[in-house]
Amino acid sequence: MELSCGFEKIDTESGSLLKNSASMSCWGATAGSERREGANERKAPAVLQCANQQVLASTVQRARIFSTNRRASSDRLQDQIAEGFMQRALMMAVGLLLATETLLAQAQLSDAVKTFVRVDAPLVALEHVRVIDGTGAPPAEDQTVVIQNGRIRALGVSASTTAPEGAKALDLSGYTAIPGLVGMHDHLFYPSPHVGSHVPPVYTELAYSAPRLYLAGGVTSLRTTGSIEPYTDLSLKKLIDSGLAPGPKIHVTGPYLEGVGSFTPNLHELTGPDDARKTVEYWAEEGVTSFKAYMHITRAELSAAIEAAHRRRLKVTGHLCSIGFREAAALGIDDLEHGLLVDTEFVPGKAPDTCPPQADRNQALASLGVESQPVQEMIRDLIAHHVAVTSTLPVFETWVYPRPPLEERVLQALVPAALDDYLSQRAGFNNEKAIAANSSDLKKEMRFERDFVKAGGLLLAGEDPTGYGGVLPGFGDQREVELLVEAGFTLVEAIHIATSNGAQFLGESDHIGTVAAGKAADLVVIHGNPAANIEDIEKVEIVFKDGVGYDSAKLIDSVRGHVGLH
Ligand SMILES: [Zn+2]
Repeated sequence: MELSCGFEKIDTESGSLLKNSASMSCWGATAGSERREGANERKAPAVLQCANQQVLASTVQRARIFSTNRRASSDRLQDQIAEGFMQRALMMAVGLLLATETLLAQAQLSDAVKTFVRVDAPLVALEHVRVIDGTGAPPAEDQTVVIQNGRIRALGVSASTTAPEGAKALDLSGYTAIPGLVGMHDHLFYPSPHVGSHVPPVYTELAYSAPRLYLAGGVTSLRTTGSIEPYTDLSLKKLIDSGLAPGPKIHVTGPYLEGVGSFTPNLHELTGPDDARKTVEYWAEEGVTSFKAYMHITRAELSAAIEAAHRRRLKVTGHLCSIGFREAAALGIDDLEHGLLVDTEFVPGKAPDTCPPQADRNQALASLGVESQPVQEMIRDLIAHHVAVTSTLPVFETWVYPRPPLEERVLQALVPAALDDYLSQRAGFNNEKAIAANSSDLKKEMRFERDFVKAGGLLLAGEDPTGYGGVLPGFGDQREVELLVEAGFTLVEAIHIATSNGAQFLGESDHIGTVAAGKAADLVVIHGNPAANIEDIEKVEIVFKDGVGYDSAKLIDSVRGHVGLH
């Protein structure tokens, strides 16, 4: 699909004078409005705003040229014709602009996207539904949720909350509604099927399947948490916000801020603090709203990146190795990915700015107790510095054979080469030594996350669709909720972490993250009761994003056999 503002088409019609001013104002307005208004404001999509501005500018320009050419002539009639033409042109252009904007406020979805829509009405009432509202409150039985023009208008017990006249009513007895998930480690890429041991791993952008699967799984907002194709991520966001592709509200993270030693050629290796600062500045201008530091970044580079990002009120997270958690907290990082399992500050003899060898990390972790004083001090230090932690239990689970259970929907979604790769690598973890070490690590991570929350830390939830595969967009976010419950959180606590906490970190709590009147109607309708049977969280039927209900099964069917390639 065409992503530009359509410069070429407009320019040839209207002349080069228009070209520069139109293109500059289009992109400037786009980047600025996205940052100010956030992702889910009901606004004219950037792509169409550009088109509108250009149509208007082009029409007025042509009228002016026509008028100017004729003004030299003494023929008054010609002048009148020219002015009349200009007035009509202006009225036509303004009318077009208004008509388009009215249309956008009501229905802005393309026909292709509409094929995935199950519920789309200006007024909808979800009746007799169990609501888990994301605040941590117990489930509320037999509720009615009234949705109007994309927002939750009212919420209360069905006996006293009646559907307004003209509302499309859905009887959801036996169903549960939770807030849309806010996926905080939800990449738009996946490991490419292996070529061989002599070739470094590479990652494939899932431009087609990832947004569909995230939405199908109940994720209505996500942070990409590191991008391998930042322009693709930014363009996908524009397409989705314009109603031209199905998907969640995307918060694009910049390309990885990696130092020298990247294990994959997908990443740029920074050449020093100046490069870190310039990289942040460049991508902030392009429209990304956060950054992610990676395993070999130096303290000087991280510090420069944080300073540049914070100057623009953007946040920085990290999957670190060369820098310990407490060092990163002191430098001002906002979030740490994965948790205890990647913190290297407990590796004996760790050199500054250096990622210790994997064997040393494994050994240190094996003898590390979560209850030990150094770990508990680290937890207190992160909280004192207001540093969040993102839980990514689904990717860790894939190293603990025979977990996770093989799911039919996962096997069907993968492209054959990616499926073969996943199954053969999974079998490689079927040995006693690996099972013992990796299940011990998973338990430690779960305990760490519980202790972090108990001490007052802000825990975020994501899935991280990397490792050796098998963690799929959307399905992984559901698995994350299940694993948080296995870690010892109650179901309502786990949902609070996977919805409200992410919204809080993103600064979006006033309109997403919980089910409440006035907030965006981002709701996941689940068949069953996950509070009684946790696996019901996988039975997602309808996902409302800004009041439009998408058919989860249709979205999943549309990407069958594509994950790992498209
Ligand atoms: Zn990741």
